[in-house]
Amino acid sequence: MSHDQSMEDALERAALAIRSAEAILIGAGAGMGVDSGLPDFRGGGGFWKAYPPYAKLGLDFVSLANPRWFASDPELAWGFYGHRLMLYRETDPHEGFTILHRWMSRLAHGGFVYTSNVDGHFQKAGFSPEQVYEVHGSIGAMQCLSECGVEIFSADPFSLNVDHQTMRAIPPLPKCPNCGAMARPNILMFGDWGWDSSRSDTQQRSLKAWLVSKVGGPLVIVECGAGTAIPSVRLTCQDIAQRYDGTLIRINPREPEVPEGQISLPMRASDALRALDERIGSWMPD
Ligand SMILES: [Zn+2]
Repeated sequence: MSHDQSMEDALERAALAIRSAEAILIGAGAGMGVDSGLPDFRGGGGFWKAYPPYAKLGLDFVSLANPRWFASDPELAWGFYGHRLMLYRETDPHEGFTILHRWMSRLAHGGFVYTSNVDGHFQKAGFSPEQVYEVHGSIGAMQCLSECGVEIFSADPFSLNVDHQTMRAIPPLPKCPNCGAMARPNILMFGDWGWDSSRSDTQQRSLKAWLVSKVGGPLVIVECGAGTAIPSVRLTCQDIAQRYDGTLIRINPREPEVPEGQISLPMRASDALRALDERIGSWMPD
């Protein structure tokens, strides 16, 4: 079978699985954001090419994504996260988000999103916050570094000024609205014992409740751009597919391997979603 033919068959099988599903779980990793034009922060070489000031300091993504900087060098810490906050705010989610949202709204039992991305782009694309589980937290949420007892608060009122020559934030830096201590993003960092997981925990409970209560009929799992480097999304999608007898559609140009019987689409997320949407066509009116 030619490569084109097997890809064509996989797309047909995937389109059929989506059309005959009653519920959809969307899994998303870094590759989903890359298609909107966001950098993949986990590629070491690419990261330094995109941010020369960090190459000069010898700081890669893993060393920067560490809560200790908020104590030892807050302007460096907020340079990194403030830049991302503003970048994610200014970037529009690609068409694939809209396509997924449309599919989800047509299914009898709707759907849920499981994402390791912290960019808030599912909500920005119109998904209800009640249908999203952000397993590593979100740049759109903040917590108090002094742990004064304040609940997680929104990042919306804050704007960061970052000097792009140095990647350092220019004060004022975000503060806790309750006690005035410095705020940090409610994102799970590396070696992070201070992350307030309460928001994510609530989202996780909602996902579990949805899986238990809504999934009687066929479940399709559409996993987009989730790699093996930080495998939480991949493993969760596989696990849920197995547990709930779902069909897994794995969209990944570099790591497309799937468990036997599941569907592999070695394509970029935005391309695959568009190709699937064309095949699904006018299935049910909006
Ligand atoms: Zn506080």
